[in-house]
Amino acid sequence: MNDASEGALLHVEGLEVAYGQVQAVRGVSLSVGHHEVVAVIGANGAGKTTLLRALVGLLPSRGRIVLGGRPVARPSPEDTVRLGISLVPERRQLFGSMSVSDNLLLGAYHRIGQEPRAAIDEDQHRVLALFPALRDRAASPARTLSGGMQQMVAIGRGLMARPRLLLLDEPLLGLAPLVIADMLRAFAQIQQLGQSILIVEQNAKAVLGLAARAYVLEAGRVVRHGRATTLAQDPALRAAYLGGHIEPAS
Ligand code: ATP
Repeated sequence: MNDASEGALLHVEGLEVAYGQVQAVRGVSLSVGHHEVVAVIGANGAGKTTLLRALVGLLPSRGRIVLGGRPVARPSPEDTVRLGISLVPERRQLFGSMSVSDNLLLGAYHRIGQEPRAAIDEDQHRVLALFPALRDRAASPARTLSGGMQQMVAIGRGLMARPRLLLLDEPLLGLAPLVIADMLRAFAQIQQLGQSILIVEQNAKAVLGLAARAYVLEAGRVVRHGRATTLAQDPALRAAYLGGHIEPAS
């Protein structure tokens, strides 16, 4: 298993994040390779959201973050978008009264005026090809969509930034099994198109079938990591997170 910073798209070492006296992330080290899907599995309160928010500079952190071989001294939300990291936050945070199309465009705000409009429109077409269910709803206010479709818009908005790395915060939460299957197919397609994904989830069963590698986060610490297929067989992990059989990654 290649877990070194050389060649990794993202390498994090000894990340610490605290809310005042509450230490939420404790010395987390992880890496994501080019074109790789990596999962972070953890229960409620394990520190998953805190980890992602620190990676994009929404929370101050200590430790080392290296993106594309370059250390990121103090990540700020603007810089990380420019550096090619895009966060799809938990609970989507869409603008409910704005159309699906306008919500998607918000993901490309830093590209408007910098790139030909045709390039942005082309990316919007790609998002609609990835999530065909959104095609007929492009003009609808986002709040009129089902939860699953709103999640598709949030992911599409993340993709509109043209990230090298997409960070997904519990994207499967509350979705019906059929919608989860659609989502997992879309994530595999995103990877095939050349982007990397770091996905944090409680739904270990779903993500261990998708990711090549995974980290298990408990009380802010990485307590296990390795190949997803190996972790899926780990008795302690199965007892804690998995009720049944896991499909191996194809
Ligand atoms: P969930 O699945 O519930 O979103 P999580 O794994 O994403 O959980 P975090 O939300 O990152 O976990 O929380 C990690 C720890 O930090 C928890 O103990 C939580 O209570 C604490 N925490 C989170 N946000 C704050 C905050 N704004 N102020 C103080 N403590 C916080």
